[in-house]
Amino acid sequence: MRFLAVFITLVVTLCGALPARADWLRLRGTHTELLTDAGEKEGRRALNRLEQIRAIMPSSGEDSGRELRVVLFDSEKEFREYAPGQTTSGLYQSGLEYDYIVTYAGGELPRVVTHEFVHSLLHQSPAPLPRWFEEGTAELYSNAQINSKRVRIGKELEAHMNLLLARPWLTAKQLTAERPVMASDQDETESMFYAESWALMHMLNLSPNYRDHLPQFIALLAQGMDGSEAFRSAFGRDFEHALADLPGYLKKIRSVQLDIPPPAPFIVPQSEPLSEVDAELLRADILLRRGLAEKARALFEQAAKDHPDSATAQAGLGMLAMTQNRPGDARRYLEKAIQLDDKDATILFEYALLQRDAGAGNERVRELLEKVVGLNPNFGEAQLLLGVRATDDRNYDRAVAYLHDAARLLPRQSYVWNALAYAQQKVGNYPEALDAAQRAVRTASTDEQEHAAEALRDALLAQVSGKSAR
Ligand SMILES: [Zn+2]
Repeated sequence: MRFLAVFITLVVTLCGALPARADWLRLRGTHTELLTDAGEKEGRRALNRLEQIRAIMPSSGEDSGRELRVVLFDSEKEFREYAPGQTTSGLYQSGLEYDYIVTYAGGELPRVVTHEFVHSLLHQSPAPLPRWFEEGTAELYSNAQINSKRVRIGKELEAHMNLLLARPWLTAKQLTAERPVMASDQDETESMFYAESWALMHMLNLSPNYRDHLPQFIALLAQGMDGSEAFRSAFGRDFEHALADLPGYLKKIRSVQLDIPPPAPFIVPQSEPLSEVDAELLRADILLRRGLAEKARALFEQAAKDHPDSATAQAGLGMLAMTQNRPGDARRYLEKAIQLDDKDATILFEYALLQRDAGAGNERVRELLEKVVGLNPNFGEAQLLLGVRATDDRNYDRAVAYLHDAARLLPRQSYVWNALAYAQQKVGNYPEALDAAQRAVRTASTDEQEHAAEALRDALLAQVSGKSAR
């Protein structure tokens, strides 16, 4: 074996003129799959870091079990083909069956991958959090120092400190806006947004004047209280007042040892090689999710040509056809994909949607969706559609069971809570229905969602008070 390895190395060296295609590996962690061409060592380093951060982050509720896929490119140049701008070093994207983190190997890897991972953890929290809160928390934990003896967070981030000392700060209004107010120099405004959010979350988590009130702030946000009102009520002062405290706090800023036992090192199981076609299809899939359809198409077509037996290649062409509104082509590709592999939950789900839109019978669509959740019980959108169908069929007990799972998996979607509230109401579970309706109001992201949720909540309030008055 050893001899063979040496021999192969020699051959590769002799053929140095040929571009060597790096090997792709797959490593598995808790609800996490890491795919990389940066080598086993970098892959393990990144995965171990994620598992340690998972262990030290205050949990924001039950673990939904949603899968995360981390793609770690060896080359920054290749990463740039998928990521916008020259300043991004990692990205987080939520998807149907799993969420994605895409980044590249290098000096800043542990910090970048931690930042994106914190986004994925916060994304499972029951209510949307202010952007400054999410980015500040991601930055605060990004350079957490974890060893076998202790866990420390809050080490100074030099770039942020330098910026905060040298430049004018964003106002409270700019900081709490969904997107920072457009400025002539947008990049600089964004950098200040990250620096200031980091400093603020540092103070709210670690300063004795603030830290004990932070859980209360989070709880009030989860109850749907408006951000500035929740801030005042939890911390006993305005957001503006806290910003005014910040320069004084920064003068004596320091890291803090957390009062928690250091997490045990994560034992990363043996890596598996990823085939060349799977690596090609992985790139195509990221391109498709990033909306780079033409580049994705070229890769999917090449893979389908070279590997006519690849279900993923056919499915990719099918999903591409769906995004380009070619339902006939989409159906043909997806049917071929299912013939090749009928155990892929995403392919079956997309096919179920196509069948539904083409007017297939209820039975057929339900059968496909049930197969999807049989293969992956954490497929939130499939649980939701099954719940809605059961509601339409007046099978409310079943509907509640499906929608309960959907709400666990998609806690930030108002329409899921709304559907659950309605089904709970139908089976007569009024307190649970009211709770779900209130969550639907809190998570509404459009006026339409908000009105629908409020109407249902008010009807339930009347029903609940009518019952208790009797
Ligand atoms: Zn971020």
